[in-house]
Amino acid sequence: MDETVQDLLVRLYTHHNLEKEQFVFILDHLDDESKKMLFELANKTRIEHYGRRVFMRGLIEFSNLCKQDCLYCGIRKSNKTVDRYRLSFADILACCEEGYNLGYRTFVLQSGEDFWFSTERMSELIRLIKKQYEDVAITLSVGERSYETYQAWYEAGASRYLLRHETASPALYAAMHPTMTFANRRACLANLKQIGYQIGAGFMVGLPEQTHEDLALDLLYIAQLQPHMIGIGPFIPHHATPLADSKGGTVDDTLVMVALARLIVPDGLLPATTAIGSLHPRGRELALQAGANVVMPNLSPIMVREKYELYENKICTGDESAACRACIEVRISAAGYTVDMQRGDSTRITPLRFF
Ligand code: SAH
Repeated sequence: MDETVQDLLVRLYTHHNLEKEQFVFILDHLDDESKKMLFELANKTRIEHYGRRVFMRGLIEFSNLCKQDCLYCGIRKSNKTVDRYRLSFADILACCEEGYNLGYRTFVLQSGEDFWFSTERMSELIRLIKKQYEDVAITLSVGERSYETYQAWYEAGASRYLLRHETASPALYAAMHPTMTFANRRACLANLKQIGYQIGAGFMVGLPEQTHEDLALDLLYIAQLQPHMIGIGPFIPHHATPLADSKGGTVDDTLVMVALARLIVPDGLLPATTAIGSLHPRGRELALQAGANVVMPNLSPIMVREKYELYENKICTGDESAACRACIEVRISAAGYTVDMQRGDSTRITPLRFF
């Protein structure tokens, strides 16, 4: 390679893409000094696009029923030890009420793939929330559905959709997802984008056998798809899954991927994920300093928080929503940023229809 890691980082900062081998080269050779430079370039990029603002999203984990069987996930169908729950519409609306009063203007509705929430039921829920809180954005994160279903939910008023691609390596994807296909995951993301959603892709760092080549594929996929949002978190093993004895991802490796994603999609909305906050007491703050600009505090009822256990030692499972809101604000300020409670749409697009 003619160029050094630092040359390549500057090139990425300027041009927002590299060849696969160049990404692999960076990952293979990143030392402390170039890592520091990477984080500085990433932070500079986010400040150019979003200033020091950090957008807040209220996360409502409304069902842990799931028909899929992803090897890494604590709420996978085969885990018979999970105490399954499904919130009622009234419960969900109560979370929204509390969230709205705390100032949230984005609600992220996340669940396992629970088909009790049919096209119609989910549409009704979205309409109810939008009727009650006209000025909020609704983000869905409920997995793979048909084009028609996504379209119906968009028409009901959902404007954003998070569906991590999980890994862009075909072989690793196949190994991790016995009940899903790589092709369909990507087709879903393409469909969501075509319908007009602000879309969120993303991946886990530190999956078993994941190589720098695999991670380079994740970066290339992000560069090609140009999602509005990119969720990147460490894989954290869960004891009741087939991957219980895996090593899992590290904070450091995750921060590197967040920073690289920031350089690839300069105007992206990148969460400092709960998973990175669960691995390190200041994980989310470190992610903000590496280019992230979104946090997603929990609004789920305390009664169910521990039951939505995707991975071990998830943070904030015992805290009231108001406490989470206050805690994260202190953390964000201490890290040198400011809380922004607005909807925080992607700056890239003026949505055709402003829901
Ligand atoms: N069913 C929805 C929501 C999935 S849960 C969907 O398919 O999109 C949200 C995210 O949690 C997943 O996309 C996955 O990337 C992450 N996740 C699941 N298990 C995890 C684990 N053990 N460690 C870290 N992240 C995990």
